[in-house]
Amino acid sequence: THFGFEQVKVDEKQDKVADVFHSVASKYDVMNDLMSGGVHRIWKRITIEQSGVRRGHKVLDIAGGTGDLTMRFSRLVGSEGKVVLADINDSMLNVGRDRLMDKGITGNVEFVQANAEALPFPDNTFDCITIAFGLRNVTHKDNALASMARVLKPGGKVMVLEFSKTENPLLTKAYDIYSFSLLPKIGKLIAGDEESYRYLAESIRMHPDQETLKGMMEDAGLVQCKFQNMTGGIVALHTGIKP
Ligand code: SAM
Repeated sequence: THFGFEQVKVDEKQDKVADVFHSVASKYDVMNDLMSGGVHRIWKRITIEQSGVRRGHKVLDIAGGTGDLTMRFSRLVGSEGKVVLADINDSMLNVGRDRLMDKGITGNVEFVQANAEALPFPDNTFDCITIAFGLRNVTHKDNALASMARVLKPGGKVMVLEFSKTENPLLTKAYDIYSFSLLPKIGKLIAGDEESYRYLAESIRMHPDQETLKGMMEDAGLVQCKFQNMTGGIVALHTGIKP
C-alpha cells in the first residue's frame, strides 16, 4: 500500500549507529527480551495505553525498527487508519517488514526509510508520533524534535520512550555494573557482537536526563511537556502536545 509518501534514500553518512543496527538486526528481538528480562514489553504497553490512539488515526513510529509499537498501533487504528514505520536503517526495516507480514499485519502499515532529523512528510499529518529507544541514536536531537513537531497535527501527541537517569544510587550502581560488564558479555554470547552492546551502554549514559529532554521538547515548540519514570528511571516516557 502507498499513502503518497515519498520513499527517501538516506545518504552515505551512516556512521557507527548504522553499523550497530546492521549488525544486531537479526538478533534484535531476542536480545531485547533477554537484556530487559521482558520488561521492555511493559514499557511499550504503557506507551500504547497513554497514546490516546483510536480507530482512524494516523500514527508515525519513528526509529520503528522491528515494529513492536507499529504492530500494536496497526490493530488500534483499524482499516480507516494508518501507521507509518520509519527507520533510517534498511536492515532493521527488512526485519520489521518480514516480522509484521508473518503476523498478518498488513494493509494499514507503510515502511519508509527516513532519518528522524528530516522527516519526509507534509506538515500536520499525524495524530500521534512515537520514537522508542531511538532518539538516543539521533545525532541532532533538536532537529529531530522540530521535525516531529512539524509533521504532527495541532493537538497531536509526541511520545519519546527512552532510557533515562535512575534516581536511586543503589539502583544506579547495580545498573552500571549490569550495563557495562554483563550486557556486552550477553551481546557477545547471543549476538556475537560485544562492541554494539558496549556502544548501547555508552549511548544510554550520554543521553540527556529527564528534565533536559523535557526542555528540549519545549524548545521544539511542544506544550504540556511531561515525563513519567518507569522502572526507577531506567526508562522515561516523555510526552508533548503540538499547540
Ligand atoms: N522502536 C524499536 C523498539 O523500541 O524496539 C526499535 C528501537 S532500536 C533500539 C533503534 C532504532 O533506531 C534502530 O532501528 C535504528 O536503525 C533507528 N535509528 C537510529 N538512528 C536513526 C535516525 N537518525 N532516524 C531514524 N531511525 C534511526
